[in-house]
Amino acid sequence: MAANGEPSFRQSVDLMFNRAVAVMDLSPGLEEKIRVCNSTYTVRFGVRLRGGIHTFTGYRSVHSEHMEPVKGGIRYAMSVNQDEVEALAALMTYKCALVETPFGGSKGGLRIDPREWDEFELEMITRRFAYELIKRDLISPAQNVPAPDMGTGEREMAWIVDQYQRMNTTDINGAACVTGKPINSGGIAGRVEATGRGVQFALREFFRHPHDMARAGLKGTIDGKRVIVQGLGNVGYHAAEFLSAEDGARIVGIIERDGALHNPNGMNVQAVRDWLIHHGGVKGCPEGTYVADGALLLEEACDILIPAAMEGVIHLGNAARIKAPLIIEAANGPITAGADDILRTRGAVIIPDLFANAGGVTVSYFEWVKNLSHIRFGRMERRQEEARHQLLVDELERLSSDKGLGWSLSPDFKSRYLRGADELELVRSGLDDTMRGAYQSISQLWNGRQDVTDLRMAAYIVAIDRVAKSYRSKGL
Ligand code: GLU
Repeated sequence: MAANGEPSFRQSVDLMFNRAVAVMDLSPGLEEKIRVCNSTYTVRFGVRLRGGIHTFTGYRSVHSEHMEPVKGGIRYAMSVNQDEVEALAALMTYKCALVETPFGGSKGGLRIDPREWDEFELEMITRRFAYELIKRDLISPAQNVPAPDMGTGEREMAWIVDQYQRMNTTDINGAACVTGKPINSGGIAGRVEATGRGVQFALREFFRHPHDMARAGLKGTIDGKRVIVQGLGNVGYHAAEFLSAEDGARIVGIIERDGALHNPNGMNVQAVRDWLIHHGGVKGCPEGTYVADGALLLEEACDILIPAAMEGVIHLGNAARIKAPLIIEAANGPITAGADDILRTRGAVIIPDLFANAGGVTVSYFEWVKNLSHIRFGRMERRQEEARHQLLVDELERLSSDKGLGWSLSPDFKSRYLRGADELELVRSGLDDTMRGAYQSISQLWNGRQDVTDLRMAAYIVAIDRVAKSYRSKGL
């Protein structure tokens, strides 16, 4: 137990796991095998910078190898420790199983504040960390494939893939050793936005289930719903931007590192993001009223709360004051196990992390497949698809004029129908399908079984059941 009476992050994940397996029929031995983290490698390495040697501590944890490669991001933050990477690696196992990406779970982290180092220094540190992991097969297209997470992005992934390719010059599948790369280093369209886009698709699917909405006391559509988002980083920004610009949600609260902005009439997410990038914080941004103690805004009245920053932000100390009827966990582990109990008892509906933020790893899967197939999605079919559609349009127009029917297809319909799908559209389609399918599987369980009390429990059950089946078929 941590000092504040809360379990640690890893214990919190285990408690959630335990709630699910309590209503499943697994042998205690298999239960334990799935729960535990297989291995965690700790590395301490030195880099010569600023006239001296600086020692950094990094981790790569592998939770489950029931499928390989194992998958999960690498985080750069001062909060990184063994407990955290193990919790995050476990969540990756369940997340991948739930959205049917054929990976085991892993996670990495480096204890560093990336804002304290310049770009050249970060490159030296990243390459050295990658070197340590690559030489132990903890970065490898077939065994362990990292991706971005808190504090890392495309830039770091480009350094990692380059480092791997320098060390494995004859590996034709080298580009698949890491995902979340920039397009010019083998990335895929739509990966940067993927986690936020996945949150949007998750919410859209929830709002297609009136019975589930009623359980949260919500009606109607996303349009006009009051949303509070915590964290305007890659995930929170994209989720809030898409929900407001495309679905009509009203972003009434934005919580950042230095405080929060509140505006009951809704804010322009792009304007806040631009302000944040230029000023390093939200203070002074005219989009809303500044609240110095940002966490207080988590407790403000709204319809949908989106914690998109980090773990443990909704805890025993504030859970009872959270008013949102619907919480969607865009971050990993934002609600502690104790807070989860409190919120559930109060009747809040929580769309859990292992489903809600699975858009990232889903598109990572597409990127990995693209790298292994060495061809961009849609390259073979796109023009052929367009030609077939053109054939149909020509035929309809010919019939109309031959028979004097007077039909005419609107130019808007024609241009949209005639356009073959490019990679971005295919990625979005695959992501949408994945999020819908996964939601349906957990909603069905939640509504179909009395002993499955919430969506988190349902998600764990679906995931654990798949992992268990995979172990069983291996003869375990
Ligand atoms: N770091 C992201 C996550 O927590 C993405 C992982 C991946 O794409 O492998 O899901």
